[in-house]
Amino acid sequence: AAKTAGRSRFRRFTRDLDREIRARRSMELDLHDALADGEFALHFQPLFDLSRNCFSAFEALLRWNHPRRGQVLPAEFIPVAEETGLIIPIGEWVLREACRHAATWPEDIRVAVNFSTVQFSSPGLVGQVAQTLAASGLDPNRLEIEITESLLLESSDSIRDILLGLKALGVRIALDDFGTGFSSLSFLRKFPFDKIKIDRSFIIELLREDEAGAVVRAITDLATALKMETTAEGVEESGQVEALRAFGCTTLQGYLFSRPVPPADIPALLARGRSIAA
Ligand code: C2E
Ligand code: MG
Ligand code: MG
Ligand code: MG
Repeated sequence: AAKTAGRSRFRRFTRDLDREIRARRSMELDLHDALADGEFALHFQPLFDLSRNCFSAFEALLRWNHPRRGQVLPAEFIPVAEETGLIIPIGEWVLREACRHAATWPEDIRVAVNFSTVQFSSPGLVGQVAQTLAASGLDPNRLEIEITESLLLESSDSIRDILLGLKALGVRIALDDFGTGFSSLSFLRKFPFDKIKIDRSFIIELLREDEAGAVVRAITDLATALKMETTAEGVEESGQVEALRAFGCTTLQGYLFSRPVPPADIPALLARGRSIAA
C-alpha cells in the first residue's frame, strides 16, 4: 500500500511540475509577442515632496494587458522577462515611453524608471540612455533610475562604472526597496546614490511597532549624513505622514496619495497635488 501511495504521489508531482513548465513556457511565448502587439502600458504613481508640499515626480510602473490573461502584474512577468532576456527590449520601451510622457509634464516634475539588474549586462547601456534622453528632449536630471540592491551584489567595477556613467549624463540614481536585500551599509558609501527608497515593509509596521520606527529613523539619519534623499514607499495611512516627516523623510509614495494611474490622469493629479496640505 505504501508503495502504491508513493507511486501516485510521484505521479502527481511530475504532473504538477509538467503543468508548471507548460504555464511558464506559455507565458514566455505570450511575453515574446507582447511588445510587438502593443500590450504594454505605463502607469504612473506620484511621489509627494514633504518640504514643498506638492508632487515632485512620478514613478513609471509597467502594466501588461493580455487579451486572454487580462492585466498581468509585474511580479508575475518581470521575473520571466528577466530569465528570457526579454527585459532588455522591454526595458528600452519603458524608458522611451517614460521619457516621452515626462517631456510633456511641467519642468519641475521628474520621472522615475525601474531598471532590472539584467539590463546592466547589456553593452552600451549608458549610450542608449543618453540617446533616449536626447530623442525625447527630456533634461537628464529629470530622470531618476531606480535600481535594487541585487545589482550591488554583483559589485564588480563595471557596474560601478556604468552607474558613474549614468550620473555623468546628469541622471539621478535611486536605491529601491532598501532594507529587503542583502546589501551591507558599505554599499551606500561606495556609491553616491541620490536617493534611498525605504521599503514598504518598514512603513507598514511604523504605527504598530517601535522597532520599525527605529529602523526608519536610522535609515533616514544615515541618508541625511550621506546627503541622500529618502522616499518612504507604501504610505497608506495619514498617521504615517507626520511620523515620516519627523524622521526626516524627504518624499512619500503610496496609495494615501494615489494609486498608479494612466498618463491621461496626471494633469488632474498635479492640479490636486498642489493643494494637498499634508
Ligand atoms: P517597486 O519599484 O518597488 O514599485 C512599487 C510597487 O508598490 C508598485 O507595484 C506599486 O503599485 C506598489 N505600491 C505603491 N504604493 C503602494 C501602497 O501604498 N500599498 C501597496 N500595497 N503597494 C503600493 P507594481 O506596480 O505591482 O510593481 C511591482 C514591482 O515590479 C516594482 O516594485 C518593480 O520592482 C517592478 N517593476 C514595475 N515596473 C517595472 C519596469 O518597468 N521595469 C522593471 N525592471 N521592473 C518594474
Ligand atoms: Mg521602483
Ligand atoms: Mg520600490
Ligand atoms: Mg517595493
